Amino acid sequence: MTTRSPQVRLKEHNTQFDKAAGQVVEATGQEWIIKEYFEVEDTYNAESAFFHRSPLTEIPHALSDELLKLDDKYMNWDWVNEGLVAAKSAGIRSNTSQPPNPKPEPKKGAKWIEAQIEGSGLKPIKGCGNGITKVSFECPEGHIFKISGYSLIRFPFCPVCEPERFDAYTLRRVKVCSS
Ligand SMILES: [Zn+2]
Repeated sequence: MTTRSPQVRLKEHNTQFDKAAGQVVEATGQEWIIKEYFEVEDTYNAESAFFHRSPLTEIPHALSDELLKLDDKYMNWDWVNEGLVAAKSAGIRSNTSQPPNPKPEPKKGAKWIEAQIEGSGLKPIKGCGNGITKVSFECPEGHIFKISGYSLIRFPFCPVCEPERFDAYTLRRVKVCSS
């Protein structure tokens, strides 16, 4: 979504390597191209119509996780096209001073994460920086690392012991604190 020209936004996706779209370019060597663009009356409402639907609304943290939004494990081309139809017909909010969606529900807490990784041998720990969105974990070998709870549920492994089980994007975002 952009309120500027699509070409300007495209260039950002292809050059900002600290952002999710740019990380894909860096990792694959392939640049994003524009397949289609269209003008809407209320850009924020259209963007919301595109993203606020299954499966993103059912996966914890998905809506705030830029990389997950690009993950073709969940989002295929049909999903994209359905979203474009929804965005085109979203129309204008009745009150444009309000955000298009109510505030998201509180994130699932440490207990939920613990239950998800039960049996993996990993355990959540305190310390290792004070990140708000990332949680620290320790493997049975004593490696301590920091990863978003959601990424850990997809890849319930130690990045030092088993780096090959991660995808390249996620592995790069894992912070190993001690080994
Ligand atoms: Zn380990």
